[in-house]
Amino acid sequence: MQDPREALGQALAAAADTLRHHRDLGLTEIACQMTSSRDPGAELAAQERALQGCPRCKLSKSRSTIVFGSGNPRARFVVIGEGPGEEEDRQGKPFVGRAGQLLTKMLASVKFDRERDCYICNVVKCRPERNRNPEPDEVAACNPFLLAQLDAIQPAVILAMGNFAAQTMLGTKDGITKLRGRVYSYRDSVLVPTFHPAFLLRNPGDQYKRMAWDDLKLARREWERLTTPQPDLLP
Ligand code: URA
Repeated sequence: MQDPREALGQALAAAADTLRHHRDLGLTEIACQMTSSRDPGAELAAQERALQGCPRCKLSKSRSTIVFGSGNPRARFVVIGEGPGEEEDRQGKPFVGRAGQLLTKMLASVKFDRERDCYICNVVKCRPERNRNPEPDEVAACNPFLLAQLDAIQPAVILAMGNFAAQTMLGTKDGITKLRGRVYSYRDSVLVPTFHPAFLLRNPGDQYKRMAWDDLKLARREWERLTTPQPDLLP
């Protein structure tokens, strides 16, 4: 059970990040809307437009394209990787290289179509050269944009893929083998850590594949639990 003071601190920090992000976008007023009239697709499109030409970190010097994210903004199932690779940098879409092809199959194994049922993005939106890990200042510069994406989508479940995404989002140094296999609470969502498909490609064989499939089944069950309307129990 998370300490309520810690949860409140995280919520306030996230709200401050969002307000700073809105200020950086040049907004001077916050529109308050009822949830039912929200349009996550329009919010994401506005965020993506505002991010064009972003110079906030050194990744901007070497990238070809900002890889914002793709999929269904209303899906309430968000997949988060580390950062774009070479092919993603070229095409401007996340997970379109070899790891992406495996990700598509992994999602399909639990009956998720990546475009219809998921929204896919990364911790950082620009490719780190030679696919090195993003550095702390780069993650910090990009974090408000990831949080704003999550605010727009309001995912029920987040699938954090690989050491980097899981450690960054959970604020821990524990490795993915220790973190995976259970759910965590992350802001208003449930977070399920699992292996990165690039790791599964480098480590073929049933051992890791089976664990990844268990994680995907867990994520799917959580998504069903959280998005299936409950019958009204009151008379
Ligand atoms: N690896 C990632 O973490 N993200 C991508 O978009 C592609 C490969």
